[in-house]
Amino acid sequence: MRKTYIFLLLLFMSSLVVAQQTISGGPLKPEQALMDIRHYTVSLDVSPESSSFNGFTEIDLILSSSSPVLLFDLDQVFTVSRITVNGRKEAFSHADGLIRINSGSTFAAGKQKVRIEYGGKPPIAARPPWDGGIQWAKDSLGRPWIAMSCQVDGGDIFFPCKDHPGDEANEGADLIITVPKGLVAAGPGLLVKSTTKGKKSTYHWKTNYSIANYSILFNVGHYQVEKRPYKTVSGNTVSMEFYVLDYNRGRAKYHLDILERSARMLEKYFGEFPFAKEKLAICETPHLGMEHQTLNAYGNKFNYVKVGDVDFDWLMHHEFGHEWWANKVSNNDWGHMWIQEGICSFGDALFYEDFGGRAAYINRMKANAIAAQNKFPIVRGDEVDSRMAYHPDIYGKGAFFMHTLRWVMGDEVFFPAIKAFITDPKYTYENTVMTDDLLKHFNAASGQDLKPLFNLFLYTTDKLGIEVRQTGPKTYSVRLSNINMPLPVEIQTSSGRKRIMLSKKETLLPSDSAPVIDPDTYYLKKLSLE
Ligand SMILES: [Zn+2]
Repeated sequence: MRKTYIFLLLLFMSSLVVAQQTISGGPLKPEQALMDIRHYTVSLDVSPESSSFNGFTEIDLILSSSSPVLLFDLDQVFTVSRITVNGRKEAFSHADGLIRINSGSTFAAGKQKVRIEYGGKPPIAARPPWDGGIQWAKDSLGRPWIAMSCQVDGGDIFFPCKDHPGDEANEGADLIITVPKGLVAAGPGLLVKSTTKGKKSTYHWKTNYSIANYSILFNVGHYQVEKRPYKTVSGNTVSMEFYVLDYNRGRAKYHLDILERSARMLEKYFGEFPFAKEKLAICETPHLGMEHQTLNAYGNKFNYVKVGDVDFDWLMHHEFGHEWWANKVSNNDWGHMWIQEGICSFGDALFYEDFGGRAAYINRMKANAIAAQNKFPIVRGDEVDSRMAYHPDIYGKGAFFMHTLRWVMGDEVFFPAIKAFITDPKYTYENTVMTDDLLKHFNAASGQDLKPLFNLFLYTTDKLGIEVRQTGPKTYSVRLSNINMPLPVEIQTSSGRKRIMLSKKETLLPSDSAPVIDPDTYYLKKLSLE
């Protein structure tokens, strides 16, 4: 009896732990589908002593039609004390992580300004940056070092918001962060001003670029700023900055050299650094890293690897690559998160090609092919929450898909096409994208229908079937078994390597020895040999 009771209690407690794992996105709530978020102001007094926040969030939004209710997400750990809409006090409830504002009146279509006063202890990060939250960490001198991460959990673990990736704050965000004097709060965009009154300092950060909830964050520490002007590929000058802990300042200059090399390489393939009117910055954090717009979190502890004969920081390069693929081009739903992670990871591999040579790139892609799990399709649906969407294949297999696409389209078509996509206003900044947008774009660029290729590798866990059959002493027949489009396949026969168009129809090849199919691995494939 007692044992059963303890077992049930443990079961209940474990369900509580799971319940605390918050998610972002998923099917859009009907009340929130009416809202277009324009701007967030997050103003918080941050107390490391009591591990708490206290302040308000102001949300500017446009309602597409009148509504009896305004609905926002905010983690239940916070207490909401007062809400006004357009300056008028409103009644509300806060239950199950949702703030429901409904005084009985109807909110008219058009602009609404909502102010929510709240406070409490934000959730502690269990495994940052993946299971996010706040870290009330200490630097190696025992002083407060505070970092936030919430990509998977969503912005609602820190501030009231519409917690869905499909609706970025079009006009950006203001962060007004008050911390104990001596600490520096670093945030997105530009520093409007910093003031010190008594024992507290306030930092006002402002970004005018559209921004995702999970980038509306700040880090706090004993930071110093190492900076230099960076001239972009388009000739604009932006400040390149490193918010580095004071005792690591000596490493910052060389670290910026490494960042600058990554920036030049990424601009070559993907166009100008997307936030050139504000800053190109990284910030030292106690967690590994995250793509916080204009303030990339960096926690790789200056661990470099050699690529060719240059030092490379894989973590910094990857997170910084997200300024293009995540922050400039953002997925409309977490179901299409591979666009952010897969293409960004492809950008990591391009660094290997540029500085390590073609073989280094091919070896990286071969490793990606071996690591592909194929447990779930890369795209599991159009309305998928962040936890369901997040699996390893959106990275490595997603990058490998770009490698396949590059091979199929050819470099001279593929690279201009990808640059045209990421520099097209209809796919960037406040406009979010789905896999179909990429498909349509690459179809138009290549003049062929790539849908069967997208379907096979992104919407199924299947691989490309290639059948090889010996038909005579020195002849072989080769065909594709499971795709309705012709594809170029590299084949090595006794007379050398050739790029040959294969289809479901048999192609006959003369060869003294058995042909080697796709030796450099441009496809995830299943070979059958007869
Ligand atoms: Zn990433």
